[in-house]
Amino acid sequence: METSTEGVVQTPSSPAAAATTADPTAVTGAAAIPPASLSPSRAGDFMQCPLLYRFRVIDRLPEKPSEAATRGTLVHAVLERLFDAPAAERTAPRAKALIPGQWDRLRETRPEVAELFADDPDGERLARWLGEAERLVERWFSLEDPSRLEPAERELFVEAELDSGLKLRGIIDRVDVAPTGEVRIVDYKTGKAPRPQYAEGALFQMKFYALVVWRLKKVVPRRLQLVYLGSGDVLTYDPVLADLERVERKLLALWEAIRLATETGDWRPRPTKLCGWCDHQAHCPEFGGTPPPYPLPVRPAADGQDVAATG
Ligand code: SF4
Repeated sequence: METSTEGVVQTPSSPAAAATTADPTAVTGAAAIPPASLSPSRAGDFMQCPLLYRFRVIDRLPEKPSEAATRGTLVHAVLERLFDAPAAERTAPRAKALIPGQWDRLRETRPEVAELFADDPDGERLARWLGEAERLVERWFSLEDPSRLEPAERELFVEAELDSGLKLRGIIDRVDVAPTGEVRIVDYKTGKAPRPQYAEGALFQMKFYALVVWRLKKVVPRRLQLVYLGSGDVLTYDPVLADLERVERKLLALWEAIRLATETGDWRPRPTKLCGWCDHQAHCPEFGGTPPPYPLPVRPAADGQDVAATG
């Protein structure tokens, strides 16, 4: 699982800057400071739709928790906690027994998730939802055997700074290290595996993590492994250094495009069928909405600069 770790975009202290909108003719002396870090999720947001990135990172518009995403968080917590038990006790019944406690904990740490079932007074929908979480947890045991695994790390926060100053951040679900020193990076997905033609997109996040590990430890992970609990598939990829160098170049191009959009305020919507899952249609021009006033100072794009480029 990957959680957003980007910091808030800094705004200059000038009150005029704070009042500036994305009107490209509105120029102030101060320059907006682009985010200094990228996570796989936010990089993915910008590639999917620059305006979505703006809404999430710069405007920080609230988003409602979804049943699917919250179930994913719950299942991840259960799989992580199961490794607290001795190897022989890491069974499916034990894992399923962790679900109620982890759900209580999730509601304590993120009270907004309780809203998901506010209109479910008899608890039927909640029971179905928890039942689906149980099935996902149970399916994991057909894909991996936790009694034979001893993760080196779980829910590992990683951060590496590239020579350009860009920080790459993320949280890796699990890191396994073989006695030979070979590293395997594992990520759990509660959805279904993508069709083969979309596998490259799914692996982007894993190559991002591999790049961070390589930068931190000077070791190219031996294997990247995506475990799809929704469909019962495991997708693996054995990266080589050239893969990681390619991802680094792509991320630097992406960061440059983000920097340009931050400074010019030109965040273009890119409608796709994924808009159906976007919480921000009410603010999106593609759906007749208006973005909130841009909170940063802007400068016009110079001739030849393509602010929509994503590398
Ligand atoms: S609705 Fe679609 S085009 Fe509009 S911001 Fe969301 S993802 Fe982008």
